[in-house]
Amino acid sequence: MSFPESSSRPYEECGVFGVWGVPNAAALTALGLHALQHRGQEAAGIVSFDGEAFYQHKALGLVGDVFGNQDVIAGLPGEAAIGHNRYGTTGGTHVRNVQPIYADYAFGGLAVAHNGNLTNAATLRQALVKRGCIFHSTMDTEVIVHLIAISLYDTVIERLMDAAKKIKGAYSLITLTPDNGLLGMRDPLGVRPLVLGRMPGYEDKQGGWVLASETCALDIIGADYVRDLEPGEIVVINAEGVKSLWPFGDVGRRFCIFEYIYFARPDSILEGQSVYEVRTRIGGELARESGVEADVVVPVPDSGVPSAIGYAHESGLPYEMGIVRNHYVGRTFIQPTDQVRNLGVKMKHSANKAVLEGRRVILVDDSIVRGTTSRKIVDMVRAAGAKEVHMRITSPPTKHPCFYGIDTPSEKHLLAARHSLEEMRKAINADSLAFISFDGLYRALGHQGRPAENHTNCDACFSGDYPITLVDKDGKLIQQ
Ligand code: SF4
Repeated sequence: MSFPESSSRPYEECGVFGVWGVPNAAALTALGLHALQHRGQEAAGIVSFDGEAFYQHKALGLVGDVFGNQDVIAGLPGEAAIGHNRYGTTGGTHVRNVQPIYADYAFGGLAVAHNGNLTNAATLRQALVKRGCIFHSTMDTEVIVHLIAISLYDTVIERLMDAAKKIKGAYSLITLTPDNGLLGMRDPLGVRPLVLGRMPGYEDKQGGWVLASETCALDIIGADYVRDLEPGEIVVINAEGVKSLWPFGDVGRRFCIFEYIYFARPDSILEGQSVYEVRTRIGGELARESGVEADVVVPVPDSGVPSAIGYAHESGLPYEMGIVRNHYVGRTFIQPTDQVRNLGVKMKHSANKAVLEGRRVILVDDSIVRGTTSRKIVDMVRAAGAKEVHMRITSPPTKHPCFYGIDTPSEKHLLAARHSLEEMRKAINADSLAFISFDGLYRALGHQGRPAENHTNCDACFSGDYPITLVDKDGKLIQQ
């Protein structure tokens, strides 16, 4: 896995979107991908199907750059399409690593878009290469494509289920086929999200179905949220409606808790919970757990905003925009020299002196990864005249890497893995530092606290409790 040296935040890897039985499917897919842009900014792609043939367009860049031209959309005809936003970690920045992947099989064409990470991809790849499979990319997704190809089952759905039983990991998958329509699949523990929606006006007709990583992608095209796919569920969407298959049985539920804290858009509903409301409740819990004498609550935008509102509400302190974010610096901005790289935080965030000068400031942020960004933000707030800076973090300390589709640095680069709370406070130059507790975080999700057993969520990057076997960790076999 790679993690940009210049960055100090975890990155989401990919958003997926698909529609079936709707005119201008590619245009709707481009809009859906636009709403999911926060999940990946490196590249975007769409494959459409018009009943006869598949069409594809993929390129590096933001969705608006890749699909902003009407001629490109016109070249993707049909009433079915799937799309993908990529933030690449497995594989480099090459067009051949952009999804969806399209493959011609003996039984017909199939396109796949995938979000997440397979924890046994390297092991499976080695075995597939040994038996003669030729890979064109370095993506996990291509492993699934080959597993479907070599399966001895007859139908596409049986082959997909066969492949699903061989892969391990956290993923959401969408495929498009001529005969079976649109297929969506969530990993057995439902770590990565996938929701089902429907366009209005289709109640008495075929079609109108939508699959997306988050509900914000349904909202942009006016689709109604139907439900989240259940962990381990496959949905088959075609002229016969929506049929569910369960290849894994019930093995539990471990939705990624960091989706609520940072990755998902605040206007999304995930697993029945509003991301915005969860974040405001986390802020309230933080205020109760680690309140401090101060004059103003300031979020580190954007993900810190709802939690800072919740913190301010609970503490009775005013909420103010003490940091302003420049929205025109993309997350993929290439920082070519050390001098420009050192300016990185200031290019993205500016301190608002009118709010900060002479005041005791509570800063609310989502996480501390390496600590470098937090240090720069605290220094920037002090330079703007703040008397005191109290950092409050809406996640527990990030002590472990994620192997389930979120790009985080290795343990040796995680500040919390190597330092005590006091050492971290000093490293980021804050007057005080506090993280939400595990119990506080789970209370914000509606539980009594963190369940001792039968956890409802994955929180491995904080707890080290990895719910899915890590076969390929650091390229070595560590568990079977
Ligand atoms: S390890 Fe952390 S970021 Fe990764 S899936 Fe689990 S909770 Fe989410």
